Amino acid sequence: MPFWLLAQTEKVDLEMIYKIKQEGTNNSKIEDLSFWMTDFLGPRLTGSTGFTRGSEWAKQKMEEFGFQNVRIEATRDFNRGGWDNLKTYAAMTAPYYANFACNPVAWTGSTNGLIKGEVVIVDVKSEADLEKYKGTLKDKIVLIPSTSTHEISFEPLASRLTDEELKALEADRPTVRRARMPFDMAAMMAQRQLRAKTTELMKSEGVAVILNSSGTYNIPRSNGAGYNSGDPEPIAELNLPIEDHGRMERLIRKEVPVEMEIEIQNKFIPAPQVYNVIGEIPGTDKVLKNEVVLIGAHFDSWHGGTGAADNASGCIVMMEALRILKALNVAPKRTIRVALWGGEEQGLNGSRGYVEKYLVDSKTNENKPDFDKFAAYFNMDNGSGRYRGIYLQQNEMVRPIFEEWLKPFESMGCSTIAIRNTGGTDHQSFDRYGLPAFQFIQDEIEYGRGYHTVMDTYERLVMADLRINAIITASFAYNAAMRDQKLPRKPEMRPRSESGMRPMF
Ligand SMILES: [Zn+2]
Repeated sequence: MPFWLLAQTEKVDLEMIYKIKQEGTNNSKIEDLSFWMTDFLGPRLTGSTGFTRGSEWAKQKMEEFGFQNVRIEATRDFNRGGWDNLKTYAAMTAPYYANFACNPVAWTGSTNGLIKGEVVIVDVKSEADLEKYKGTLKDKIVLIPSTSTHEISFEPLASRLTDEELKALEADRPTVRRARMPFDMAAMMAQRQLRAKTTELMKSEGVAVILNSSGTYNIPRSNGAGYNSGDPEPIAELNLPIEDHGRMERLIRKEVPVEMEIEIQNKFIPAPQVYNVIGEIPGTDKVLKNEVVLIGAHFDSWHGGTGAADNASGCIVMMEALRILKALNVAPKRTIRVALWGGEEQGLNGSRGYVEKYLVDSKTNENKPDFDKFAAYFNMDNGSGRYRGIYLQQNEMVRPIFEEWLKPFESMGCSTIAIRNTGGTDHQSFDRYGLPAFQFIQDEIEYGRGYHTVMDTYERLVMADLRINAIITASFAYNAAMRDQKLPRKPEMRPRSESGMRPMF
């Protein structure tokens, strides 16, 4: 091989990769971290008591692992404020008794103690329909008809990416899974507008509780109402499994009176800011120690379940990755920093706040001094599944580098490189400025079923996959911290405005 070709080859310290694999396999803390982050901490809704308790735990855990400069850092104002669910009880009492496992919508209000009453359907298909409900809804329990019907599924509950799907990703062809989800933006916007008008009517009428259906996945969804701190409390609202919701809807449509008893206690608490938990292994090179390799995942979850796959799994992997490096006593040239973000689910608040604090002035849109010292960011937020490769975010320049970095993990099934952008989570906060920020391709496992539902619990975690993900993350972080140059960046692109990015969460 001629010298100039040799010089271009990306060097990987295979002895270190071997050590990382050994530490991550034989001394893994993945199962232990999984217990603490899910069963022990519970849900970590941004601004909630659970989030505060969780971030204190994470800080303590990082210190215990020997990370340095560990801190809980306020990054951004949080316009919603905090919200805790203290009690939820809902049962049908007529035509017979049946209790329902349901979940309150975050940032909605309470009932006035235990309320009992008839359930009525409010079925608004067009604005004209609103008229007929005027003056009829005071103190009523209102059931909003489901927009989706239940279909028996013949799909497996969990799945891994097939060789064919991985090939499609590599060739940048749409995968079958993607093609399955049609999306009509105009219809969605119209639906949203009508929904807002219906909510307005129910507010002015003085409705007691709103009941919604979980839809396709049968499991109570966990999400939040649009709310800004200081607004009047939205009407108490419950999300019911499609089976329970559907049963009542069918009864009412056949003119069988349905009654329920419901008690919901929610508490709005002051929480003016979003917090991140940060720790690091400082760099050791005289010059390069000022440069930062960042790994991270969002720490906040929705309030149903315990936010296991979304996204305790990512936090567990990132903490374990840095623990592995610390346990091996590595002396990285650059600083390797882990960040657990708050407020992702409400608009990537934690990571965007970090960018605003350290990298780009949000008012002037000018780079801050640390912008040039930013080496790379690696994010995990696609559930509990194994890494199968990495998305390049259109950054073709890093392909030859990642090809070499992935070689030691080919036998673990992680070798696919996809040129495409992947969105919806925290790497976008960096990528939108052209900074090298990436997310791994992951097996879906049960992500659809558990995603933002009360079933996102410890049971959703695949320990063997998380162990591998931590090993690969540790290796990528180490490689990025040791190579002569920072990772190549895309030509700098300034987003035009705040509204230029529309995260899907
Ligand atoms: Zn997430």
